[in-house]
Amino acid sequence: MFILESKAQLEKAIAKAMKTRTTVKFISFGVYAVRGSKGNFYTVKCERGEHGEKIVSCDCKAGQSVKPLVCFHAAGALSLHVGLARQRQTA
Ligand SMILES: [Zn+2]
Repeated sequence: MFILESKAQLEKAIAKAMKTRTTVKFISFGVYAVRGSKGNFYTVKCERGEHGEKIVSCDCKAGQSVKPLVCFHAAGALSLHVGLARQRQTA
Protein backbone atom coordinates (compact mmCIF):
# COMPACT_ATOMS: atom_id res chain seq x y z
CA MET A 1 0.00 0.00 0.00
CA PHE A 2 1.26 3.46 -0.74
CA ILE A 3 0.03 7.01 -0.69
CA LEU A 4 0.22 9.12 -3.79
CA GLU A 5 1.83 12.33 -2.72
CA SER A 6 2.37 14.21 -5.92
CA LYS A 7 1.05 14.56 -9.41
CA ALA A 8 4.51 13.73 -10.76
CA GLN A 9 4.41 10.40 -8.95
CA LEU A 10 1.05 9.66 -10.50
CA GLU A 11 2.21 10.63 -13.97
CA LYS A 12 5.27 8.42 -13.62
CA ALA A 13 3.09 5.49 -12.61
CA ILE A 14 0.80 6.02 -15.57
CA ALA A 15 3.72 6.25 -17.98
CA LYS A 16 4.94 2.94 -16.56
CA ALA A 17 1.51 1.40 -17.11
CA MET A 18 1.43 2.57 -20.73
CA LYS A 19 4.70 0.77 -21.35
CA THR A 20 3.68 -2.52 -19.79
CA ARG A 21 0.18 -2.50 -21.31
CA THR A 22 -1.47 -4.86 -18.93
CA THR A 23 -5.14 -5.76 -18.79
CA VAL A 24 -7.19 -3.83 -16.27
CA LYS A 25 -10.69 -4.98 -15.40
CA PHE A 26 -13.17 -2.65 -13.83
CA ILE A 27 -14.86 -4.19 -10.79
CA SER A 28 -16.34 -1.12 -9.14
CA PHE A 29 -15.27 2.50 -8.83
CA GLY A 30 -11.92 2.31 -7.04
CA VAL A 31 -11.54 -1.46 -7.32
CA TYR A 32 -9.78 -3.06 -10.28
CA ALA A 33 -8.40 -6.44 -11.27
CA VAL A 34 -5.06 -6.15 -13.02
CA ARG A 35 -3.36 -8.95 -14.89
CA GLY A 36 0.07 -9.93 -13.62
CA SER A 37 3.01 -11.25 -15.61
CA LYS A 38 1.92 -14.86 -15.09
CA GLY A 39 -1.62 -14.26 -16.28
CA ASN A 40 -2.99 -14.13 -12.77
CA PHE A 41 -5.06 -11.21 -11.56
CA TYR A 42 -4.32 -8.91 -8.65
CA THR A 43 -6.82 -6.68 -6.92
CA VAL A 44 -5.91 -3.03 -6.74
CA LYS A 45 -7.87 -0.57 -4.63
CA CYS A 46 -7.75 3.19 -5.04
CA GLU A 47 -9.36 5.00 -2.17
CA ARG A 48 -9.41 8.27 -0.33
CA GLY A 49 -7.96 8.49 3.15
CA GLU A 50 -9.35 10.40 6.09
CA HIS A 51 -7.45 13.50 5.10
CA GLY A 52 -8.14 13.26 1.39
CA GLU A 53 -4.93 11.43 0.61
CA LYS A 54 -4.96 9.02 -2.29
CA ILE A 55 -4.30 5.54 -1.03
CA VAL A 56 -3.52 2.76 -3.46
CA SER A 57 -3.11 -0.85 -2.45
CA CYS A 58 -2.31 -3.95 -4.44
CA ASP A 59 -2.32 -7.53 -3.22
CA CYS A 60 0.80 -8.60 -5.13
CA LYS A 61 4.14 -9.13 -3.41
CA ALA A 62 5.60 -5.75 -4.35
CA GLY A 63 2.45 -4.02 -3.14
CA GLN A 64 2.73 -5.76 0.24
CA SER A 65 6.40 -5.06 0.86
CA VAL A 66 7.63 -2.94 3.73
CA LYS A 67 9.02 -0.41 1.32
CA PRO A 68 5.96 0.25 -0.77
CA LEU A 69 6.42 0.99 -4.40
CA VAL A 70 4.14 1.58 -7.30
CA CYS A 71 3.96 -1.84 -8.91
CA PHE A 72 2.75 -1.96 -12.48
CA HIS A 73 -0.62 -3.38 -11.40
CA ALA A 74 -1.25 -0.32 -9.27
CA ALA A 75 0.00 1.86 -12.10
CA GLY A 76 -2.37 0.18 -14.56
CA ALA A 77 -5.33 0.51 -12.23
CA LEU A 78 -4.46 4.15 -11.57
CA SER A 79 -4.41 5.03 -15.24
CA LEU A 80 -7.99 3.77 -15.51
CA HIS A 81 -9.07 5.19 -12.17
CA VAL A 82 -7.83 8.69 -12.94
CA GLY A 83 -9.81 8.75 -16.18
CA LEU A 84 -12.96 7.58 -14.40
CA ALA A 85 -12.50 10.05 -11.57
CA ARG A 86 -12.18 12.85 -14.10
CA GLN A 87 -15.36 11.77 -15.87
CA ARG A 88 -17.19 11.78 -12.55
CA GLN A 89 -16.05 15.27 -11.72
CA THR A 90 -17.17 16.70 -15.02
CA ALA A 91 -20.41 14.71 -15.22
ZN1 LIG B 1 0.88 -5.14 -7.68
